[in-house]
This record gives sequence, structure tokens and C-alpha cells, in this order.
Amino acid sequence: MAAADASQRIVELRQLLQTASYAYYVLDAPQMEDAVYDQLYRELQGLETQHPTLITPDSPTQRVGARPATQFVSVQHHIPLYSLENAFNEGELRAWEERWQRLRPDITSFEYVCELKIDGSALALTYENGLLVRGATRGDGTMGEEITQNVRTIRAIPLRLQGEHPPSRLEVRGEAFLPLDVFQQINQEREQAGEALFANPRNAAAGTLRQLDAQIVARRRLDFFAYTLHLPAREGGEIPDLTSQWSGLERLQSLGFRVNPHRCCCQTLQEVLDYYDRWSTERLNLPYLTDGVVAKLNSLALQAELGFTQKFPRWAIALKYPAEEAPTRVQQITIQV
Ligand code: NAD
Repeated sequence: MAAADASQRIVELRQLLQTASYAYYVLDAPQMEDAVYDQLYRELQGLETQHPTLITPDSPTQRVGARPATQFVSVQHHIPLYSLENAFNEGELRAWEERWQRLRPDITSFEYVCELKIDGSALALTYENGLLVRGATRGDGTMGEEITQNVRTIRAIPLRLQGEHPPSRLEVRGEAFLPLDVFQQINQEREQAGEALFANPRNAAAGTLRQLDAQIVARRRLDFFAYTLHLPAREGGEIPDLTSQWSGLERLQSLGFRVNPHRCCCQTLQEVLDYYDRWSTERLNLPYLTDGVVAKLNSLALQAELGFTQKFPRWAIALKYPAEEAPTRVQQITIQV
């Protein structure tokens, strides 16, 4: 595409994606299907790769999520919350592996931890001396919304960590979600009350977490799976230094968190693909939604070396399931601008 046409299309795409993101993240009321959003996002990414001088800092490709809403206190995350890079097929998964291996060509022995990608809303939990002191949404990854009172209503999140001598401070990341039966019940009640229905369990979970009335949150019975444990460096107490994602998950479990049981350690990318294939059908029997699987390098030392891009960890990737419905509205939406 010629630079002038690309520039015009980039402006259109940014505007579309920004409007959609606001509806999705701030209003919890998506205006377009996720598959449509993903397709437009990829088109923008492709054009920006071809024309890097046209990238601006406010482009949707340059940030995670959305800024915190104003009705909550904004809090800075002690450790940023990143999004995950997406792969939609085997080729993209292999390209990701090649990318991280180019940074560490000497590494020949490694493992991946595969986890289900829970379709909910990320939470950052802070514990001090074993007590939950703060719960926050991801927000834009740097600043989130402080929603501690709402987080305290989630039964799967311990208010006090199990075990003696917890470190003076630790951070837990995980996904709050609504089980499918609860989601259906909430929408039935909303329909009877003449209220707008939630588009899907993910938006219902995000909307519930940002309710101003914690009693409503408690009634909605959110659930939670923890997936990351951040321990402070060289801390006293009984929790030994972590060396792997796998041991972090086990440690989270012993601290009293619910950790998804369907995790698996893989030695090769083919094993990751087998796990993905297996769960692409078995997920239909789960009582909650998943939208893919996540593969993470198991070694925390290697994770630390590879680090992050502006938006993603280089050591993890989300392998997404294809959209159930084809993005039929792309054409319509792009013409509207
Ligand atoms: P994402 O949902 O694709 O992936 C990142 C998130 O996965 C993390 O923040 C975390 O919350 C979650 N996660 C679940 N299980 C996990 C696990 N085991 N380990 C680590 N993380 C796990 O990324 P995103 O930035 O939250 O959202 C992008 C998605 O939102 C896109 O797919 C897009 O379709 C959708 N979106 C849709 C619209 C719309 O208008 N429909 C607008 C904006 C975004």
C-alpha cells in the first residue's frame, strides 16, 4: 500500500480500535465481536510494521488494556501487568519460538508450562505479612483501579495466606472469572429487570469487579485462578526462592489459592500443540470459558533474561482458539468511518 493510503487507513483503524477498546474495557459493553477487533488490530499492526515512521505513542498497538476509570482510585502496579502476544496458528507459534531462541541461541534444553487461558479479567493482589491489602485491575498495565473491597468478596482469594512466616510482601496475579452457570443466571435476572445483558462472561466479570457496591459483587459469585507469584528478592521466611513457573503454581496452591488443575509441562513445541488440540475440544466440558492456551518458558531465570517488549513478555505466548463466528461485520465497520 502506498504511504499516503497507509497513513489514511492507519488513522481510520486507530479511531475504530480506540472507540471499541473504550466500549470494551471502560464501559464493559463491547461494540464489535472479538474476532473483528483482532482482525482490525492485526491490519493496523501489519501497516505499522511496513511503515514504522507512522507509529505514534497513542496507537492501540502501543498499549495494554485501557486507562483506569475515574470512579475508582488509580494505583500504580508495583510490577507492570503485561498482555500476552497472540498466535493464531502453528506457524505463528513456531515463529515466536524462533524469536526467543535468536536471543538465546545457546539454550538447547528448556521446558514450557502450558496453562488454560481463562477468559476473565486480570487481577493484581498484594499481600503484606500474609494479609491481603490490595486488589487492583490491570488497567493500562502500569496504572490499575483499586478494587480491594470487591476482591475481598471472592471466596477463592485468601484474605490471609496459609502457612507460617509469610514474606513481608508478595504479589499474586490471576484471572477473576464468572462460571458459565452464574453468568447465565445474572443475565436472566437482568432480562427480568429490563436491564442490558452482558455480552459474554468476560465482560460480565470485568463489569462486576468494577461495581461500586461490594454487596452486588458478593452476590455475583466471581471465581479466581491464580497463575503468577512474585516474591520479593532475598526475603526471609519459609518460602524458598522460586526457580520455575511450575513451582510458583505449586507454591500458590500451598498458600491457599485456587490454581487451575489442567496445567502441563511440555518439552517440545509439538507437545504444546498437542495440549492445545486436546483442550480445543475438552474445554467445551469446562464450567467456565477459555479462549486459548498459554505457553510459558518454565525457567524464571530465562524469563528474566528475555524480559518484555513494550506490551508482552517474550517468554510467553497465547495460542488462541479461532473465533466461533466469522468476522462478518468487518466490512460494514470499516466502511462506516
Ligand atoms: P488477552 O486476553 O488476549 O491476553 C492477556 C490476558 O490473558 C492476561 O492479561 C490475563 O488476564 C489473561 N490470562 C488468562 N489466563 C492466563 C494464564 N494462564 N496466564 C497468563 N495470563 C492469562 O489480552 P488482552 O490485552 O486482555 O485483550 C485483548 C483481547 O481483548 C483481544 O483478543 C480482543 O479481541 C479483545 N478486545 C475486544 C474488543 C472488542 O471490541 N470486542 C476491544 C478490545 C479488546
